[in-house]
Amino acid sequence: MTTTIGLEIHVQLATRTKMFCGCSTAYGDEPNTHVCPVCLGLPGALPTLNAEAVHLATRLAVALGCEVHEVSEFSRKNYFYPDLPKSYQITQFDQPIATGGCVPIATDRGARSVRLTRAHIEEDAGKSMHAADITLGGETLVDFNRCGMPLIEIVTEPDMQSGEEAYEFLRNLRRLVRWLGVSSGDMEKGAMRCDVNISVSPDPARRGTKVEIKNLNSFRSVKRAIDHEEQRQARCLADGAPIMMETRHFDEVQGTTTAMRSKEASNDYRYFPEPDLPLLQLDAAELASVRTHMPELPWEMQSRFERDLGLSPYDAALLTEERSTAEFFERTIAIHNNPRKVASYMGTEVARLLNERGKTLAETRLTPEALAGLLAMVENNTISNTASKDVLPLLADAGATPAEAVEKLGLEQVSDASAIEGFAREVIAENGTQVEQFRGGKEAVLGFLVGQLMKKSRGKANPKLAGEVLGRLLK
Ligand SMILES: [Zn+2]
Repeated sequence: MTTTIGLEIHVQLATRTKMFCGCSTAYGDEPNTHVCPVCLGLPGALPTLNAEAVHLATRLAVALGCEVHEVSEFSRKNYFYPDLPKSYQITQFDQPIATGGCVPIATDRGARSVRLTRAHIEEDAGKSMHAADITLGGETLVDFNRCGMPLIEIVTEPDMQSGEEAYEFLRNLRRLVRWLGVSSGDMEKGAMRCDVNISVSPDPARRGTKVEIKNLNSFRSVKRAIDHEEQRQARCLADGAPIMMETRHFDEVQGTTTAMRSKEASNDYRYFPEPDLPLLQLDAAELASVRTHMPELPWEMQSRFERDLGLSPYDAALLTEERSTAEFFERTIAIHNNPRKVASYMGTEVARLLNERGKTLAETRLTPEALAGLLAMVENNTISNTASKDVLPLLADAGATPAEAVEKLGLEQVSDASAIEGFAREVIAENGTQVEQFRGGKEAVLGFLVGQLMKKSRGKANPKLAGEVLGRLLK
């Protein structure tokens, strides 16, 4: 069986106001408080295009390697639905702002590239709340706050073959939109939504019947819906039952899909050019500036970290999940030039601390200077690696410098050979049996004796030096 998957993703552009009016895009406010004649579709109201939305869409399209069209067109997509007061949606149809492009993904089948068909700008519809969602006594209420929210819809080619690949694609796309500040990418708040097109066929050369699964609102749901649908279609094929070309709904609780309606053809929407808006003409100079100012993309940075800095794929992926983390890392290694050490410390100790605090790196007081200073102290044996774990919270919570924190905690490592020699003589005097064993050739006993010395120094002795001094005195 061959599974073929394409995705359609709606990404909400991070503007302050809606696509065609001045209403706020704030999330979670009282229903129907961010509305006006334009987004309610009242007679005579005219749309005005939000320039920032176009800028963000352009930025994303350039980053995705799309061909960005200097001239594109808005169209009306006509349909009746209670959450659509105008009875049409302003979108782009045969002349979208961008075509082509791709997103790289890492999968079980190796590193691959998912091609994009197109990206177009459109407005969102309102939100119906059915009795199933909330207790409304069987009624359906509608919230128009979401009407007219600016979206970019990204349509992929059918290049994915499993739920896992679709999941990886979405993760990488979300990382990019956040990286660029184009969208919050927050699926729980509806800022990123995904529809799946999936077909299963016994013949790899022929595509099966395409089924659409609508409005999946978490990465996990996308994967679960695909896994379920794959099995359902395979069962239909095995039983000789027909697979209908239809739209299906994924039930989060049951983990199953059910038929919603038969699939519309695009001519059902009676698209025509939007008469209230002129053609969208991008400014060539601005487009050039978007290209010039494009930052290094997360996946580009990830491969550079692996290739040039020798980081593991795991560490490189972790550090490039958020742009602020990647920048923190780069500023830290600019001071303490030991990328692998910095990466591993950030991926373990710093990550653990953030996890405990429930904070992001930016929400703590840890600076690249402080982290670099701390790691330098471990490297030059001022403190032990173990002691550094006690120092880190003071840097992150109180904004202390490493020197202040080490002094406050009294953690300075003893690397003075004469002080260590004093401890070593005591250890030798107190552990006659083990000393005999060592001298009798059982060298492993040295570890025990070093442990005794560390205990005497209350953990402050430099363990390496302790071993050397003991070894010398015992011989
Ligand atoms: Zn409005």
